[in-house]
Amino acid sequence: MLEKVLIANRGEIALRVLRACKELGISTVAVHSSVDRDLMHVRLADESVCIGPNSPTESYLNIPAIISAAEVTDTVGIHPGYGFLSENADFAEQCEKSGFVFIGPRADTIRLMGNKVSAIQAMRKAGVPTVPGSDGPITDDNQRTLEIARKIGYPVLIKAASGGGGRGMQVVNSEAALLNAIHVTQSEAKAAFGDPTVYLEKFLDRPRHVEVQVLADGQGNAIHLGDRDCSLQRRHQKVIEEAPAPGIDPEAREKVLKACTDACIDIGYRGAGTFEFLYQDGNFYFIEMNTRVQVEHPVSEMITGVDIVKEQLRIASGMPLTFKQEDILFRGHAVECRINAEDPQKFTPSPGTIQHFHAPGGNGVRVDSHLYSGYTVPPYYDSLVGKVICWGIDRDNAMERMHNALEEMVVEGIKTNIPLHRRLVRDSGFRSQKFTIHYLEKLLKD
Ligand code: ADP
Repeated sequence: MLEKVLIANRGEIALRVLRACKELGISTVAVHSSVDRDLMHVRLADESVCIGPNSPTESYLNIPAIISAAEVTDTVGIHPGYGFLSENADFAEQCEKSGFVFIGPRADTIRLMGNKVSAIQAMRKAGVPTVPGSDGPITDDNQRTLEIARKIGYPVLIKAASGGGGRGMQVVNSEAALLNAIHVTQSEAKAAFGDPTVYLEKFLDRPRHVEVQVLADGQGNAIHLGDRDCSLQRRHQKVIEEAPAPGIDPEAREKVLKACTDACIDIGYRGAGTFEFLYQDGNFYFIEMNTRVQVEHPVSEMITGVDIVKEQLRIASGMPLTFKQEDILFRGHAVECRINAEDPQKFTPSPGTIQHFHAPGGNGVRVDSHLYSGYTVPPYYDSLVGKVICWGIDRDNAMERMHNALEEMVVEGIKTNIPLHRRLVRDSGFRSQKFTIHYLEKLLKD
């Protein structure tokens, strides 16, 4: 087992990784920006190093500073969490070159999946269902491009190969608008991502977002921990997630789960990962793979009992997976609400000092949060300040437990989106499973 792990992240995920390390007897190094010295995991870590000023580019995205901190503390492994450098292939490579174990996939796998065109091609080759599309980048052969789009059928979606976070996409409704729109998206992509490559996909009008959690040890073993629905989104940011995804066609589910584990073996995947799909009319369409632990991983943990972060640490230590697929038993239902420091109506960030914090509890209630009374939420980072996860014997039970938990929870001193979550878990459309990825934004408009 790795003896010492540096946690190259902050907030709730840094605390989550620290807890997993402690359970495995691994020593921990916290790295933090100046303002973050009072973070909960910094207080709890065996050692801590300030890696720079508050701006993320000078601290949590500062590769030389993180590598130096690993060197001075004799770290063995580096856990990137999610966001920041977690899907940066150069960072993974530099960790390994400097003699540290990057707790994640190999750099070339991150690179393959970081480019959407190569990711889709690899997945298609491995038998994972993808969105009908151009199957490769758009070239300057306009006739061919028009033909491809005609074959896909309008509306089509232009997507940047290097796009991310919901940026670099444009819907086109008619042939007349296509070539110009491609041109515009290419220039925008070049400016935003340094890569003008774009491709075409069929635009699905009412999909759900359903994703599959996998674990692979890079030694020929891969398992899945089932699926999650993350359709409730605002500006492409997930708000509520649940596992299993409700109302999925059982045959389509079995097929896609197997395709994901087969694909992991096919590409020699190592670590935890997520295959993201759009799901419409009983069909799954792969859109991208995340090569890291995700914010919503706890819902899969709650229905399987598997600790995903501990498995990441074991895999990075060179151990084979603890479980075989037949060992994974799915039980009940879990839902997660992301608690953000923001105005529940206007969604503007609400940093500040927590006057009083009270976490909910009870059967099946889990709170992953770095908040405590007296802690000051800084304005420099993502507004996520915690997650409430509730398990129930079925979906209704999980949702009612969540409602109770949100009523018990007290966060004073800043505004949070808890009132929005209280409303959502009792919303009739959400409860009766009549939703798509557009549901939340429509609801907020009404
Ligand atoms: P990003 O890396 O920016 O998150 P994705 O490929 O995951 O890009 O797409 C982001 C979001 O855009 C998806 O969650 C979905 O809401 C929407 N989207 C992506 N592809 C399609 C499609 N073919 N049809 C309809 N909506 C799509």
